[in-house]
This record gives sequence, structure tokens and C-alpha cells, in this order.
Amino acid sequence: LFLKQIRAVGFKSFAEPTTLNFTKEMIGVVGPNGSGKSNITDSIRWALGEQSTKSLRGANMDDIVFSGSTDKPAADFAEVTLVFDNQRDIFSTIKTDVVEITRRFNKKTRDSDFFINGEKCKLRDIQDVALETGLTKSSIAIISQGTISTFAEAKPDARREIFDEAAGLAKYKKRKLEALKQLAKTTENLTRISDIKLTLE
Ligand code: ATP
Repeated sequence: LFLKQIRAVGFKSFAEPTTLNFTKEMIGVVGPNGSGKSNITDSIRWALGEQSTKSLRGANMDDIVFSGSTDKPAADFAEVTLVFDNQRDIFSTIKTDVVEITRRFNKKTRDSDFFINGEKCKLRDIQDVALETGLTKSSIAIISQGTISTFAEAKPDARREIFDEAAGLAKYKKRKLEALKQLAKTTENLTRISDIKLTLE
């Protein structure tokens, strides 16, 4: 079992500190319309660094902070922590058996802070780690309303991407792109050096 727990406070409809424990391999969430089912999957993607407010179904980042109700005031910040089991070393760069990823958004400063196992880190670190979870936007680990038809109607290239992500290839593709960029830069530098060498000879 990989994602063990979600803790959320001030995130969308989670006004109070809320803990969800996932104790089974496959989780189904059921409930009436508008009860907050999709907010759970939004919280996972948000904690894993999602920057597109549109994909989180909001107009701007403020929309992900609990906006208040008749009996509860609006929250000042939103915080979500995902607890992953890492006993099988799913995270290549993190060696602890349990990995906690936290995102906190402060409505006043409009800043997001990210933490891995309680240590502050950069969005980029989270995005790298997110690729290893297989829980990113293009993955099929989270099947929301519409995902099945999107998958069925996807063009072959797009469908291939979904399989690649499920098989854990996405992170290698990203690393390959980075390596190719580095290679192009180095080749350019080499050309420049040989030009300089020629002018000196
Ligand atoms: P459906 O089955 O219709 O898709 P759902 O169970 O997936 O519904 P969600 O879309 O997850 O429901 O949740 C919508 C609810 O979350 C709404 O009641 C909405 O008012 C509430 N909500 C969303 N953002 C906030 C916020 N920032 N503050 C307070 N409540 C919010």
C-alpha cells in the first residue's frame, strides 16, 4: 500500500483538521454531489505541486483555501500532508521508510511552502518526487469522473503517455530531456572553444 494517509486542514471543504487513512489497495469514494469527493483528489494533486488553479477547479489559488460557512470562519491557510510508504524504495532519493510531503499555502502572503519529511524544500523537488508517485495529472492512479472517457477517446500518442506514466517511465523521460538539453549546451560550448582555439592558432 503506497499512499497511506492524507491530512488536510483549511483545504477547500476541509475546514477542520481531517485525517483520511487508506487501508486498502484500491479506494473508492462515494457520496452525494458536492459533498467533497473530488476535493480529496484535488488535495493529492495540490500537495504534489499542481500549479494550475484551473485543473484544481478554481479561478486562483485563494479558491483552494476554505472560504467559510455559516458556522465557521474562512481559513487563513490551507495545508495538506500526504503520507507515503517507502519501504520498497519507491522514492529513489529519499531513504526513510515513511515519506511525508506537505504543502502549505498562506492566503495573506500568497506563498506556497513545500516540505519533505518536515524539511522545507523547493517546488522543483516536490515535482521530481511527484513523478515517482505515479499520482500526477496524467496518471490513471486517480480515476475521477470523466477519466475513463478521456482514456477511451485519447489518441494513441496520448494513451501511450498514460501507460508510460503508469509504468513509471515519466521520470526517465524527463531526465532524458534534461540530459539532451545539457548535451546540446556542451556541444555548443565545445564548438565555441574550437572557434577560439582557431583564432589563437
Ligand atoms: P460531484 O459528485 O458533484 O462532482 P463532489 O463530491 O466531487 O461532487 P467536490 O467537487 O469535491 O464534490 O466538492 C464541492 C464542494 O466543496 C462544494 O460544496 C463547495 O462548496 C466546496 N468547496 C470547494 N472549494 C471550497 C472552499 N474554498 N471553501 C469552502 N468550500 C469549498
